[in-house]
Amino acid sequence: LKYLIISDIHSNLEAFEAVLNDAASHRCDKVVCLGDFVGYGANPNECVHKFLELPDAVAVLGNHDAAVLNPAEREMFNPVAKAGVAYSEEQIDDESRKFLRSLPFTRNPGDGFMVAHASPSRPESWIYVIEPLEAADAFHAMEEPLGFIGHTHFPAVYTATGIVRPFAVGETVRLDAASQWLINVGSVGQPRDGDPRTAYVVYDASQGTVNIHRVEYDIDTTAAKIQNAGLPPMLGDRLRRGY
Ligand code: ZN
Repeated sequence: LKYLIISDIHSNLEAFEAVLNDAASHRCDKVVCLGDFVGYGANPNECVHKFLELPDAVAVLGNHDAAVLNPAEREMFNPVAKAGVAYSEEQIDDESRKFLRSLPFTRNPGDGFMVAHASPSRPESWIYVIEPLEAADAFHAMEEPLGFIGHTHFPAVYTATGIVRPFAVGETVRLDAASQWLINVGSVGQPRDGDPRTAYVVYDASQGTVNIHRVEYDIDTTAAKIQNAGLPPMLGDRLRRGY
């Protein structure tokens, strides 16, 4: 099977639609979202509904999704993130809330891989995987040879031998059974690696390959919506910088 793997949509409808349009050419069998549907942007409800329209799609819970459902999860958030969560909480309808509430912390979508929003080591603690040591903890907790995560909004490839590298367009990751792999798929709605283009990953399980794709989208519209919604304007500005 071929999987479209996405993460951190963060209420950015224009980016999400650009991903779905661009990814259509890959004819993926299944969509897997690694959480953070909501927070930051102006269209939390629309993004959840768009996801629910997809024919074969599964997801896990992100920390912003959890924060919308449970105020205790917001305590560690900075003021800008809190504003996004408060806005999402007020915008989402019962169907969206029910969907977010149904999401598990981890999942095995098929073909022997696992997904989580943050580190698989303790998924409910929202630990960032950045350095090799954090990746080692993640590998230790993984029963599968392959995992996909999000949360940092920074696309990266980790191997159990301690190699970490950014995941760049044009690079094909060829999975080999000799190693364990952990791949951060970046962010649909708020990239933070300096590249403002939206990101998505295609995992071809029969070929054993993983590719990342980056697509331009209408950031002006997204930023204008953020401003008009009364959200902190920096949430729109940062989209232009990809940071
Ligand atoms: Zn996020």
